This record gives sequence, C-alpha cells and structure tokens, in this order.
Amino acid sequence: MLEKLTRSFGDVVRTISGKATISEKNIEEAVDSIKMALLEADVNLRVVRRFVNATIEEAKGEKVLRSVDPGQQFIKIVHDRMVALLGDSRQDLVLKGPDVVSVVLLLGLQGSGKTTSAAKLAAYLKGKGRRVLLAACDLVRPAAAEQLQALGAQIGVEVFRGEGTDPLAVARAAMARAKKEQYDTLIVDTTGRMQVDEAMMDELVRMRDLVRPDEALLVADAMTGQSAVDIAKAFDERVGISGVILSKFDSDARGGAALSLKSITGKPIKFVGVSERPDGLEPFYPDRVAGRILGMGDVVSLVEKAQATIEQAEAEELEHKLATESFSLQDYLDQIRRVRKMGSLQSIVDMMPGLAGQVSEDQIDEADMKREEAILLSMTRKERLNHLIIGPTRRSRIARGSGTSVAEVARLLKKFEKSRLMMKKVVKNKKMAGKMMGSMR
Ligand code: GDP
Repeated sequence: MLEKLTRSFGDVVRTISGKATISEKNIEEAVDSIKMALLEADVNLRVVRRFVNATIEEAKGEKVLRSVDPGQQFIKIVHDRMVALLGDSRQDLVLKGPDVVSVVLLLGLQGSGKTTSAAKLAAYLKGKGRRVLLAACDLVRPAAAEQLQALGAQIGVEVFRGEGTDPLAVARAAMARAKKEQYDTLIVDTTGRMQVDEAMMDELVRMRDLVRPDEALLVADAMTGQSAVDIAKAFDERVGISGVILSKFDSDARGGAALSLKSITGKPIKFVGVSERPDGLEPFYPDRVAGRILGMGDVVSLVEKAQATIEQAEAEELEHKLATESFSLQDYLDQIRRVRKMGSLQSIVDMMPGLAGQVSEDQIDEADMKREEAILLSMTRKERLNHLIIGPTRRSRIARGSGTSVAEVARLLKKFEKSRLMMKKVVKNKKMAGKMMGSMR
C-alpha cells in the first residue's frame, strides 16, 4: 500500500529530521522533494499546488525556525496537511437504527470491485451486529448475481436475486423482502458499465429515487489514480454520492486517488479494500494513513501514550513478564487500572495496526472492565498471582464476593489467557516501533 509514496516521504523525513538547525533553504528543498513525490504519486496538480503553498507558508513561520526541534515541527506540519488532504477525520456510515431498513447503494464501473465490495461491506456490517440482506441488481455484467450469491454463502449473508431483467423491479422486491423479514440493512449492488455512460447514469438515478439510500457509496479502483477521481466526480454530479470505497488499496503503490479524492470531490473515503477476500475491507482513517506515509506508524503514538503513563522501569518489568509468561492476574488488575488512566482501551486497540478489528467491541467494553475489577478484587492475592489454583470452589466464592456469576468468573479467566497473548503482540509491536523511531533519528 502506497509503497512508493512512503519511500519518497521517508527520505524527506529522514533528511530534515536529522538537522539540528533549519534554514528557509532547507525548508524549500524539503518542500520541493515533497512536491516531486506527490506528482510522482499521481496526485492532482491543483491539490499538489495547494499543499505545497500552504506547507511553505506555515513552515517558514517563526514558530518552526525558532522551535526547539524544527525538523519535528516541520514534519508535524506536513503530517497535519496530509491528514487534511485525506479527509481529516474518519467518516463512518450513517445508518438508521434497527427498527427500519437502512439502504446502502453501491455504484461503480465494471471491474471496480463493486460486487466484491458489496459482500465485504455486508460482512463488515454483519460483524457490527446488523441484519444484512444483499440485493443483486447488477443484471448487466454476466455472472455478477451468481458471484454475489457465492460470496453471500461464504459470509453467511442472504442474497436476494429476484426474477426478470429489470433491476428496479428486483430492488423493489428486495426492499419488500427486507421489510417483511426484518432486516435492518439492505445493500444494493447496481449495474456497472465499462465506462461512464448516460444509460447507466439514468438507470442509477431511477434506482436512487426508488430506494432512497441512506448511503450511496461509489466503489472506485485505487489503481486507476486520477481516473478514479474523475469517475467519482461524474457519479456525484449525476447521482450524488455520500462517500467512496477505494478498492484495491492493497495494490496501490502510488496513492494519487487516495490523496486527491477528498479535495477534488468533497466526498470522504469511507473504506478501503485491502484484499480480494470478503474480510478485506477496512475503515479509512486519514491520520493513520498519513502516519504510515510519513513512516511513523500508529504504533509510535501508542508507545508515546503508553510511555507517558507507564514509567520506563515498570514497562521493562512488564515486558519481561510478558515474555517469560509470568504475567499474572495481579498484573492484569494493575493493567486494567493503568488502561483506565490512559483513556479507553478501545482507543488504544484502535491504534494498533495488527489488532484493530481483531479485538471485538464486547471484549473491551468499559463496563465489563469495572465488573472485572470487582472479580479480581474478590480474589486473594495468592489467587491473583497464580490463577491455576482457582478451581470450582474458589470460583463460586469469588462470584459471590463480587456479585457476579461463576460463568462470569470463568469468562474472565479465559479472557485473561487471551489477553496474555494479545499483550505479547503489543510488546512485539512496541519493539518494532522502537526500531522505527530509532532509524528515523
Ligand atoms: P465489479 O465488476 O465492480 O463487480 O468487480 P468485482 O467485484 O468482480 O471485482 C473485480 C476484480 O477485482 C475481482 O477479481 C476482485 O477479486 C478484485 N478486487 C476487488 N476488490 C479488491 C481489493 O480491494 N483488493 C484486491 N487486491 N482485489 C480486489
């Protein structure tokens, strides 16, 4: 993903962060390299110009040149500008509650990854606890409906196919079915064509008026660079879109579409496709992608955040414990308390590339954490130091003492085992981040 862009930006970052003092000339040189990198990445020319001018202006201000660490200050400016380019903050889907059917209309050219994305989105929303029905309304591309049905079977989501060759009739029937069978989300895969043409747009406008979508998402192929941006513009002008799913982001070494889309169309990228598989869809986080491009992963901010709370020595001790598996329930209790000090566990998990999505929300419910704390406090210190001695009798005593149930105590013990694994991963990530930061210096 964005390998090329990341490489060129990495060079700029390394050059400038190595300097003790920075002159206007250094800044101009760095901005020049950035400009080249963006142009090579196939970013829209207008966007590049705006980016460059704004960066120069801000960077040449007194604040940077006189700051303690001008290199870092400069990189921060570039980072913030990049986040703005990518769309500022994460834009989630806006869907209605479970009592009504929310409709997501998927638009896009043939081959953009529309059908695959329909299934991915269905799997994603199903994972969020929604009841999803897929409607196969791409009746133009041969086998699109069969493909969707096969994907639906794979992810356990019902696919509505309907009769005849009129996509509007199929959509109408799908809506009736969704309502009758109490689905809360209907994802409509629509007709794609090889290129933007009037007949397709007309049909999509009629489809839009029929289903009145909560979200109309364009699926655009990241690998087509600026064409993806032009296509998005065309669809938005004719049909109106609420956001973009940028497919094949995993194969996009350049990044032109990702960096230009928001500024040119005003529409946010809501998801990116990162593999051909039904689970290959990720929410799009501008700040994470900017961090990745500049070679400073989210892991860095995680480590910073964690380090502010956990003293170095403590951290080392913890690492040692995790590595040697002597991490006990007592440490687990300490961790719960620390995590609360750091902010929500969700925000921490969200920063870890490998873990986002792997840890489900119910695993990190904050109320859960309080209950866990109660259970842990009902244990004796001896029990906390060696969880293996907690048999059935102890379990029921602990349950009674904490006002919970034996099942909940058992669940915590199981989760504790899982957490040991997860935290081992954190340690690994952290080591990686340390290396990354080291090489940046
Ligand atoms: P449609 O004509 O727009 O419905 O396109 P498809 O959904 O059939 O996708 C076209 C091709 O792109 C298929 O071979 C997909 O497997 C592939 N594809 C779709 N999304 C992604 C993605 O995010 N990453 C990768 N690597 N391939 C993708």
